[in-house]
Amino acid sequence: MNIYSEVSSIRGVGLKLEEKLNKTGIFTVLDLLLYFPKDYEFVTGNSTFDEIVDDEKQILTCKAICFEKDFRTKTGKRLTTLNFEYMGHKVIAKWFNQPYIKNNFRAGENYNLMGKFKKEKNTLEIINPIIACNDAIKNEIVPKYSLKNDLTNKIISKLIHQVLDKIKITENFPYYLIEKYNLVSLDDAIRNIHFPSYKEGLERAIARLKFQELFTYSMKLLLVKKHIKEVKSGIEFKMAEELKDLKNSLPFQLTTAQTRVIREILMDQKRPYPMNRLVQGDVGSGKTIIALIAMFNVYMNGYQVALMVPTEILASQHYKEALKIFKGFNINIEQLTGNTSLAEKRRIKEIIKNGTPVVVIGTHALIQDDVEFANLGLVVTDEQHRFGVEQRSKLINKSKEADVLVMTATPIPRTLALYLYSDLDVSVIDELPPGRKRIETVFFQNNLRAKAYSIAVKEIEKGRQIYIVCPLIQEDEKGNLNSVEKLFYELKETYFSDIEIAMLHGKMSGKEKEEIINRFKCGEVKAIISTTVIEVGVNVPNASVMIIENAERFGLAQLHQLRGRVGRGEYQSYCILIANAKNNITKKRMMIMTESTDGFYISEQDLKLRGTGEMFGVKQHGDSGLLLADIIEDMMILKCASQEANRVIDSKDCINIALVEEISKNLERNSKYICFN
Ligand code: ADP
Ligand code: MG
Repeated sequence: MNIYSEVSSIRGVGLKLEEKLNKTGIFTVLDLLLYFPKDYEFVTGNSTFDEIVDDEKQILTCKAICFEKDFRTKTGKRLTTLNFEYMGHKVIAKWFNQPYIKNNFRAGENYNLMGKFKKEKNTLEIINPIIACNDAIKNEIVPKYSLKNDLTNKIISKLIHQVLDKIKITENFPYYLIEKYNLVSLDDAIRNIHFPSYKEGLERAIARLKFQELFTYSMKLLLVKKHIKEVKSGIEFKMAEELKDLKNSLPFQLTTAQTRVIREILMDQKRPYPMNRLVQGDVGSGKTIIALIAMFNVYMNGYQVALMVPTEILASQHYKEALKIFKGFNINIEQLTGNTSLAEKRRIKEIIKNGTPVVVIGTHALIQDDVEFANLGLVVTDEQHRFGVEQRSKLINKSKEADVLVMTATPIPRTLALYLYSDLDVSVIDELPPGRKRIETVFFQNNLRAKAYSIAVKEIEKGRQIYIVCPLIQEDEKGNLNSVEKLFYELKETYFSDIEIAMLHGKMSGKEKEEIINRFKCGEVKAIISTTVIEVGVNVPNASVMIIENAERFGLAQLHQLRGRVGRGEYQSYCILIANAKNNITKKRMMIMTESTDGFYISEQDLKLRGTGEMFGVKQHGDSGLLLADIIEDMMILKCASQEANRVIDSKDCINIALVEEISKNLERNSKYICFN
């Protein structure tokens, strides 16, 4: 077994488990090792009575004393109570509806009870404690994996444990880097991120892997840039005569900023070397039309153009927009996503292959190996923050000469853009279309939730539509975060009983999602309860309220994106952030959102606040494609990693040359930002 072996080569992985792992995106041993915990739980063992704090998980070795008689509570639950003793204090343990639990205990014996102990004067009380194994009484850091497809923390931990028992991971960083930044070895890092035995070890593991991730990321950017420079020769496109007619037929007048950016793009198109440009513009600034105009010109020059977006919802929205804008120009427009039927796919791929001029709009289905463009002139990726450099590289490699245009709404501070998009020229749309009303944003603590819903209902009665976003699809084990399903059924029985509402989340098929969005667009569905799948690009001008549940769980950039789903039409719009804001930082973050609707301002404030954030806080920019690093929080690491990458790529030293080779191979082979050999 090595890191590229299939997971089925791990002992105990049968067909069923293999299928579950595959569904989760884990195919190889390496995928498994890179399936990092999304969080950790810190459990303290056998603290003194004084050290025990309510709400903090503990493992205490308690001596069983005696059972009380079971009885039924008012709500009909069966309550089993057992008295223990811990360091001279009485401990009352209660279980609901688990009468058989008694069989696990014998009076006079010691047990490790795990859970949150509550202090009542001299007594401790605990509800539904778990019996932890015998060697778990020391302080413990328990990894929490993101659990999908019936996988459990136990299964994942066990598999990783088995692998690490057999494999030692080869170091793949030059010694000088490890020394200079005082990094732990790769093997250490991987072991400690999965099985940390103390906090500092975990922190150092994360630091090493973040550095590696950002270094690899930077290297890949540089490689793509180098590749374009060396291999590509551009096409000199002419200015199509029809451009004027297109501009005249638009349903609105372009803003000054849009006009300027379009001019920059058209200038690039005329030049003999390939365009490689990023268009940065806040949500709602009107990036779509810019992409369409750029595509129009290249198409009119007789070339194929591709627009790639991160979700099927967005693909079909852009497709429809293209049909509308290009109406009357006789343009061949196709849509290619994971949803497209096989026959249809075959037909479209044939067109693409035989070189017929065409506008293709789609998802990453566009970068599959069997999609061969014969005559590609321009590639646009929209909402680029969702795509990694690998995908971009793949798309660029579809043609030796095609122009590249990247659109993003992620307003990142300028200093950061330098490292993140070092390979691109940048155009900024710094103006919103006229007549937009400022989105009123308010922040409610949890107890004002009812008020939020009644505002929503009032707006719906006025004819508007609304979104509610939750952090989860299904209720989590603790039940303290709102989930789409729970809220959907709750609201259907209460506030929204007479209103047509629908759920939307990433586990639904493309078809189901599309259907819901369409029913929302045509006004049949009045409210969508959704996860963040709604975040990117969805455009429904009639929607006027965005309610975000557990807003403390989202990054500011993400909140800003979500808010951008409303205020897209003529109506006054509202964003209601419902947060369980216990600490000052959360409150401050909410305040930033209520006081500004300027993405750049928000991202800069965010950056300032981050300095104070804790290590295991909310992971922001969860969509950057990075596994661990957070481009804002880890800006200093990014800076160092980027400098080192620049040094390495120009170096003639054989160690560095080998490293560059390794990462180029990796760029083709692996879609994750961590380089392995
Ligand atoms: P984003 O930059 O977030 O992708 P879109 O391209 O989706 O924004 O545009 C948001 C809305 O603004 C769309 O309904 C679009 O038709 C409209 N729009 C774009 N440009 C203008 C303009 N110059 N004047 C008026 N409306 C515009
Ligand atoms: Mg957009």
